[in-house]
Amino acid sequence: MKPVHIAIAVLLLTATFAWRSIAVEPVADRLVVLTFDDSVASHATFVAPLLKKHGFGATFFITEGFEFLVDKEHYMTWEQIKALDADGFEIGNHTRKHAGVAKQKPEQLAADVEYIEQQCAKYGIPKPVSFCYPGYQTSETAVKLLRERGYQFARAGGAQAFDSAKDDPLTLPQAFDGKPDSTLEQFKAAVAQAKDGKVAVMTFHGVPDIKHPWVNTDPAKFEAYMQHLKESGCKVIAMRDLAKVAQLRRN
Ligand SMILES: [Zn+2]
Repeated sequence: MKPVHIAIAVLLLTATFAWRSIAVEPVADRLVVLTFDDSVASHATFVAPLLKKHGFGATFFITEGFEFLVDKEHYMTWEQIKALDADGFEIGNHTRKHAGVAKQKPEQLAADVEYIEQQCAKYGIPKPVSFCYPGYQTSETAVKLLRERGYQFARAGGAQAFDSAKDDPLTLPQAFDGKPDSTLEQFKAAVAQAKDGKVAVMTFHGVPDIKHPWVNTDPAKFEAYMQHLKESGCKVIAMRDLAKVAQLRRN
């Protein structure tokens, strides 16, 4: 082999390894995604400052459903949502009206999804790449629509960790669903599932959630959850960041 050929071979090998190290990183253990649904005011006033203190990422799924338009004591303003984006948090799409997608006509769903995208554009927030199914209800039509609109992730319900190599990222499950009677032990059990290529995706609503007490999380309890993530050395990210750290199933 001529020196020039050796040089080319070395260059190619280096490029290949460099590419692989970027493209194919095994999912680290203790990887946790935090998600917050329904545009609750406490997301801006209590949750975000606490997450910033810990250096945690998170995704806030925005809807204008419920009393969002009229009750600005209990629901965020778009200025607050914009501030979450400016603070580095992800803004995800939870549809305009929070209607169950399986009951909607495709054009209704498309309009509700597009509306949140337009509101984001209006406030200088990047077009969402993550979606959350209202009421955790999924449909094949919705998955197809989201894929066509460029969504990378969509969270459903469930009670198991997300296996990034096997599960469809457009119907990914939650490992934990914060409810009034949820316990720290249950949260720890969900965190413990984040290993061997699996990611624990956590769902919360308001902290507290005055208007929806059945999905309320007590602030003191939430602080204990976050403390556990810190103490157990978890990497806590927004849903969109999964694209950087996980080898995802292709559809
Ligand atoms: Zn919701």
